[in-house]
Amino acid sequence: MSNSKQIEICENDHVFVLTGAGVSAESGLATFRGAGGLWEGERVEDVASPGGWKRDPERVWRFYSMRRKAALLAEPNPAHAALAKLEHKLGERYFLCTQNVDDLHERAGSRNLVHMHGELFQSCCDSCTREPFTDKRIFCQTKAEQLRCECGGHIRPNIVWFGEVPFHMDRIIEELHRCTVMLVVGTSGVVQPAASFVHWANERYTGGSAVVRTYYVGPEHPANAEAFTRVFQGKAGEVLPHLFAVL
Ligand code: NAD
Ligand code: ZN
Repeated sequence: MSNSKQIEICENDHVFVLTGAGVSAESGLATFRGAGGLWEGERVEDVASPGGWKRDPERVWRFYSMRRKAALLAEPNPAHAALAKLEHKLGERYFLCTQNVDDLHERAGSRNLVHMHGELFQSCCDSCTREPFTDKRIFCQTKAEQLRCECGGHIRPNIVWFGEVPFHMDRIIEELHRCTVMLVVGTSGVVQPAASFVHWANERYTGGSAVVRTYYVGPEHPANAEAFTRVFQGKAGEVLPHLFAVL
């Protein structure tokens, strides 16, 4: 049985899920903005921009090492589990795009997902095209000079910084064109292009009736709240486990 507190998913629906830092908040990982946020004491341009990397790579590595440490200690929460369960039920009709760089969705059992802003436990070279590689090392005192690629370039976190192009955009756009339900969880709706996904979905109208139902879940209204069919206000870990009625 479904009720008004649930999202009904019918047999022809394709579900596109976008998650942000809020989905990992109940796992103890800090979100970016606000009190206690990751940006407190750090300027975005110092730790999450190509310019910051050029100026002070050791500082950048300290920041991402701190985040690697925190993510290694964190466990998936009921929100990650509810999404993995939904994927299990829907199979190919489910797609997850996360802005998060932690691996909590995978550890909860999600498989059909992309990390549009990169992955915390991968590194790459800042100069050559070698494939990104798995890297769980924590560098707190390491001199950037020690982290050299064979090509002479420097090894950097495989993270999409401000001013860089998000990963997997072709796949994301394909899935945006396929979806009939969009669920956005725990993101403030200010970082582009993710903040526009709901608008792109809303533009898919046929004869005046929207084909895509769009929902947001989080304790606060995001900056783009008015674009959603409905906002479910609450913590992801409390709302998501009871949110879906798969018909
Ligand atoms: P954010 O910190 O801007 O917003 C977090 C959102 O989560 C807020 O809207 C908050 O209300 C919500 N929230 C808090 N607790 C919640 C809970 N229990 N359940 C559900 N929602 C909860 O983070 P964001 O919107 O994800 O930021 C956008 C993206 O920008 C980030 O994912 C990140 O990839 C990117 N970014 C990256 C860097 C970097 O280090 N490279 C820096 C800044 C932003
Ligand atoms: Zn290289």
